[in-house]
Amino acid sequence: MALSFARSAQLQQRAEGFLPGGVDSPVRAFRAVGGHPPFVERAEGAYLFDADGNRFVDMFGSWGPMLLGHAFPPAVAAIREAAGKSASFGASTAAEADLAELVQRCYPSVQKMRFVSSGTEACMSAIRVARGFTGRNFIIKFEGCYHGHADALLVKAGSGIATFGIPGSAGVPAETVMHTLALPYNDLAAVEAAFAAHPDQIACVILEPVVGNAGTILPEPGYLKGLREITWKHGALLIFDEVMVGFRLAAGGAQEFFAEEIGGLPDLTTLGKIVGGGLPVGVFGGRADVMDCLAPLGPVYQAGTLSGNPLAMAAGIATLSAILEGQAEIYPKLEETTTAIVEGVAKLAAQEGIAMTTNMVGSMFTWFFTPQRVTDFASAATSDTAMFARFHRGMLERGVWLPPSQYEAAFVSAAHGEVEVELVLEAAKGALKAAVS
Ligand SMILES: *Cc1c(COP(=O)(O)O)cnc(C)c1O
Repeated sequence: MALSFARSAQLQQRAEGFLPGGVDSPVRAFRAVGGHPPFVERAEGAYLFDADGNRFVDMFGSWGPMLLGHAFPPAVAAIREAAGKSASFGASTAAEADLAELVQRCYPSVQKMRFVSSGTEACMSAIRVARGFTGRNFIIKFEGCYHGHADALLVKAGSGIATFGIPGSAGVPAETVMHTLALPYNDLAAVEAAFAAHPDQIACVILEPVVGNAGTILPEPGYLKGLREITWKHGALLIFDEVMVGFRLAAGGAQEFFAEEIGGLPDLTTLGKIVGGGLPVGVFGGRADVMDCLAPLGPVYQAGTLSGNPLAMAAGIATLSAILEGQAEIYPKLEETTTAIVEGVAKLAAQEGIAMTTNMVGSMFTWFFTPQRVTDFASAATSDTAMFARFHRGMLERGVWLPPSQYEAAFVSAAHGEVEVELVLEAAKGALKAAVS
């Protein structure tokens, strides 16, 4: 049963000669869990296939984008067709407004938007337009929330930053982050105090409405509503970073999923991952009066050679069209599959006497190896990461590929079904036993 990773090990060694750590994004190197990261050759539906001929049930979905499963046929066809017409023009195409219209059908709060090429760019640009619109410098973010790797946002930033246990990043001057206030998540009093300490100086509050980048952490009842009210009161913009949860919790993401509880819409929203169907796309958008501050209409500069790229727009249109059409079936099925996996593994962990806290919403979840309730970064950090690493390794060896860090969310796709649930539970039975012994 033992899988061979020999070819991947060779490829990793070769890559390390050219790329720092052999990777283009740090968590891919598996440093937090050990072992050799498999090199992927192709993927289809719920499965990844590696260079050694191993097959894995994919439980991280390219870190979120592959909601509909890998090589989703309508997206593949749309990309092929677009590629035949040239990969980029640097001029406007009808596809940009086509995708924008689909985004707006999902997200009515996004009255105007701009396409960029990553979630990082989307968040960085949303912050700039918020500062430009309000004429204020300070921003509030939350510990464990990741908004991409722009300088001002790399403060207590979750994801790889949490995985490697570093407070921020070298190469970011203190002057660059002096206007970034990083507060604990799920703590409205901290937000009130920050506004009191910096009257009329805070441009915006940016958050992941469900945190995915410290592992999955849900907003406590009243938290999102409270943030909406505080920002209204102080004339600051509320920015929902839905790069991960957009189109995942519902077609309209967190602001649809939590609509009743929030009782208002965010001023700006950032999107990425699913909106590009696996191609590099980010979106920032929201209130028209705010977005119209952007050049060429206003004084806030933002640009991109490959922004609105025709291949990316084609993949996005195919993906969002399928989501809008199938949402009534897609989301209940995702939740059903995810519940079966999450509850099944929780039961197995209990049988082994392993302390585990599961946070789940829709089709995203995290198994935290801690007996504590996880409601913020500090409680997430009580997890036994060595146990997680052993569990991860055991799952991989049994053909299930989890995100390679305790501080990342796992994802289920619409291509996952009963067969994959069984495969995951079977693997978990062995991996949990191996992790305790
Ligand atoms: C992934 C992610 C980003 C960054 O997106 P990239 O495309 O990796 O730059 C920003 N915010 C959230 C919430 C994310 O999950």
